[in-house]
Order: sequence, then structure tokens, then C-alpha cells
Amino acid sequence: MSAAVTTDLKLIGHWIGGGPVRGESGRRGPVYNPATGEQTGEVDFASTDEADRAVAAAKAAFPEWRKWSLSKRADLMFRIYQVVEEHREDLARLLTAEHGKVFSDALGEVQRGIEVIEYVCGIPSLLKGGFSEQASTGIDVYSIRQPLGVVAGITPFNFPAMVPMWMWAPALACGNTFVLKPSEKDPSASILAAELLKEAGVPDGVFNVVQGDKVAVDRILEHPDIAAVSFVGSTPIARYVYENGTRAGKRVQALGGAKNHMIVLPDADIDMAADAAVSAGYGSAGERCMAVSVLVAVGSAADPLVEAIKERLPKVKVGDGMDAASEMGPLVTAAHRDKVASYLDSGREQGATVVTDGRDTAPDSDGFFLGVSLLDDVTPEMDAYRDEIFGPVLSVVRVPTYDDALTLVNENPYGNGVAIFTRDGGVARQFQFDVNVGMVGINVPIPVPVAYYSFGGWKSSLFGDRHIYGPEGIDFYTRTKAVTSRWPDPATSRVDLGFPQTR
Ligand code: NAD
Repeated sequence: MSAAVTTDLKLIGHWIGGGPVRGESGRRGPVYNPATGEQTGEVDFASTDEADRAVAAAKAAFPEWRKWSLSKRADLMFRIYQVVEEHREDLARLLTAEHGKVFSDALGEVQRGIEVIEYVCGIPSLLKGGFSEQASTGIDVYSIRQPLGVVAGITPFNFPAMVPMWMWAPALACGNTFVLKPSEKDPSASILAAELLKEAGVPDGVFNVVQGDKVAVDRILEHPDIAAVSFVGSTPIARYVYENGTRAGKRVQALGGAKNHMIVLPDADIDMAADAAVSAGYGSAGERCMAVSVLVAVGSAADPLVEAIKERLPKVKVGDGMDAASEMGPLVTAAHRDKVASYLDSGREQGATVVTDGRDTAPDSDGFFLGVSLLDDVTPEMDAYRDEIFGPVLSVVRVPTYDDALTLVNENPYGNGVAIFTRDGGVARQFQFDVNVGMVGINVPIPVPVAYYSFGGWKSSLFGDRHIYGPEGIDFYTRTKAVTSRWPDPATSRVDLGFPQTR
């Protein structure tokens, strides 16, 4: 389908060395308003040279930036918090305009990013090291945390403000300088973030944005002056980023895709579970890495659960994200909408029951809409179960027992989020012990950890050994140095060629 183009296209460029920079590579990509289907902007795609310029700016800014005292840096983080807070609605409007999510959801996204900025306002405490006095006679040993240098973030389309904040807030607070490569689908929020950081007082070159595609990503992965890369996106690209980044000697955390299950046991409060399933399955049109994608209905829970969800679906209001009445917006692109819808056809062909087909209920519009969709009787061999659909399609898998539900989750290649709905505390506790997933909800459908814990999945949902933000985020963006120190003390000084002893 050829999209309409507004006459005044917004041109979205890079941000290098403290100011906007127009791309000169001659390569650009379209940016759409998913609610109208119109192309509203054009984003520059960086060349290798342009990526190099951003890295050079970050490298030049690093020596001065890392000298900032902890109190001065904490002060700046408080100012960043304040400025972002003041502009939360401006950020959210950009998210709705380019991603399509409803404005209230966009505000929620900004809020979960701000919470990570709030967490790193305590950076003096977070960077405290250890100290051992008199480790040996006259000798003290202590550890200090130091920044890595220039670090980079590569981010997905579905959280164009929050995920970058999860990276740049701890990275800067730890004393690193930053190069961000946002998604080319909704690039404007990163430029506004750069403007806000400048307004707050972040020195030029400390935060840079290169827009683009694989060319910019590949340059980041091989660039000798980049010490670490944080990535969030789909599993195949996460694997690619991890393998190539580590091969080039970098520290890499690469968060990938997901297939999140919500198990409903027969003793669960079915109305509460149905409310949670609808909220977590269709919120943000299912384009959340923590969206519930599979409902695992155990035993007698299945019929009443499907019935309760069916009742709720016609009430979900789908429409333009800036319309206050809308609860669910469009998908990000026409191609993605069509791909998501194709799982309804493959599901039907492979034996699932299409309870609700969102194509029948989508608003009559040129926007990239798909209504809420429900597949029942899904089995693990079907494409709808195996693939990360990343859209408003909930699949119900019926299993006889709790053990079958657990096996299903543990055998799934992804391990991002999972939820269990039950009234039985003992079963819930056993589940948290047994399940091979990184983030677990007990009667909570989207268990995104608060900012002072860390976010990350297991298995194919994360490559690397550090989760993002929280204490593991601080670990990721610092390296420790252990210092063994002795001050002149003639009484203990002598020549000793033996191996250093601690007594
Ligand atoms: P994506 O993998 O297509 O893109 C992510 C980033 O990689 C973008 O910046 C993109 O420009 C870049 N990229 C894309 N193809 C590339 C290639 N061939 N070589 C190098 N770089 C490339 O992901 P997306 O569609 O933007 O985002 C949705 C995906 O992100 C979903 O799979 C979702 O589950 C995942 N996600 C995961 C988490 C998490 O925390 N685990 C959070 C949000 C999103």
C-alpha cells in the first residue's frame, strides 16, 4: 500500500557534539504517523563517517566529564530529572505521533524512564567501593568503580524514550559518554532527549545521537573507541550484536525478544485474570516486550477465562492515540500490521479457533490498525505459538495440569517475563522457584521490575550477563579497580623476593 505524504516533511537528523547535525550520506528513511498512515517525516541514515564523528565527539568529551565530582554529577542528574519531568508531555506526544501508542500509555512509558533517572540521582552511593583496612600489616586494600569511556546504545521502536533512558541515565551518571542509535521508525524522541540534556547542563559531546540502520550499528560494533554496547531489540539482531560486539572486544548486554506466558490456575479469580490478560495482551497494541502473548489456561480455568475475555473485547476502544477515548492505538507500520494479522490465518489453517479476528473490528482508517484478536486451542507447534507476534493477538493454550504449564514455559526458547494467577501462595512460591524466566509476576501480568531492581530476561531474551538499569546497570557501565596501598613506614620495610603474603 502506498502511504500518503504530507507536504511538509519533518527532517530528523543526528545530534553530535552538542547540537543538531544534518546527515550527508544521502540515505534517509520515512517516518509515519501510524494513526493516519501518513508519512510525516524523514530521518537521516548515518554513514560510517558520521558514526565516527559522533564517537569522536564522545571520546573528546570523556576526559573532562569523568573528572566531574560525584556531587556535581548527582546535582546534574537532579536537573535532568527536573527538565525531563517538565517536558514529559512533549516527549509523550512525540511517541504517540511516531509510534502510535495512546497518549496515556506514552506518558506511562516516559514515567518508567524517569524512574531510572531518579534512581541514578543517588549515584554517589551507587558508586561506593569497598575498603579493607590493615589487609596486611601497614597495607590497606580498596576497590573503586570507574567509567568505561565511550559507550553506545542501540534501541528498538517500541519504547523510543524509555529504553534509551534506561541506558543513558546510568551510563552518564557513572561518568561515561554516550552514543545512541535509536530505531529509525520513531527517531524524534531521541533528539528531544538530547535537547533536554543540553538544557539541563550536560556538556557538549557527552550525549550524541546517530540516526540510521545497519550501517551505523555495524560501525558501532566494530569501532575501537567504543568500550561497551547496550542493545534492546529482536532476538536475531540481539544475537548478532552480542556476537559481533564481543568479538571486537566490547562489553555487551543485548536484550532480545519475548514470548510471555500468563498461567491461570483453576483457583484463580477469573475476572481479575481476564482483566489482567486483556490489559497485558492488548496494551500498547501488544508491542511491548513484556506483553502477555500466551494464556496458559489450566484445567477447568479455560472455559470461564475465554468467556470472560470474550465479553471484554468488544469494549476495548481502538483509535488514534491522541483521542482520549482510545485505549489501544495502531501498529507501528502497515507491514507489521499485515504480518501480525497473518498469524490469524496461519492459526486457523493450523487448527486454532479464531474467537475474535481484529481485522473485522479495526477502525475504518488509513492508519495501521488491527483490532484485538483472540486465538483459542493453540498448540506449541503452531506459528502463532512459536513466533513472537508483537501485536494485539492473544493465544490461549489449554493444558491439563500445573506441571504441563510449567513445562511449556520452561521449554520455550524465550525467558523474558511470565505471570501466574492463583490464590494458592504455596503453588506461586514453588513456581517462582521452578520457572526459567527472568521476570516473574504473581497475580501481576507485566512484572517490569522497579528502577532499583534490574530488568532482563533469560535464555534467548538476553545475551550477556548483566541486566539493564538498577544495580546491574551500574555494574555494566563501570569497571572496578582494586588498589593495594602502603604508606611509608620504615618499621615494616625490607627486601623480600617471596610471593606477596597477607600476614
Ligand atoms: P529490531 O531488532 O528490528 O531493531 C532494534 C534495533 O536494531 C534498531 O535500532 C534497528 O535499527 C537495529 N537493527 C535492525 N535490524 C538490524 C540489522 N540487520 N543489523 C543491525 N542493526 C539492526 O527490533 P524492533 O522491531 O525495533 O523492536 C521490537 C523487538 O524488540 C521485539 O522483538 C521486542 O521483544 C524487542 N524488545 C525487547 C525488549 C527487552 O527488554 N527484552 C524491550 C523492548 C523490545
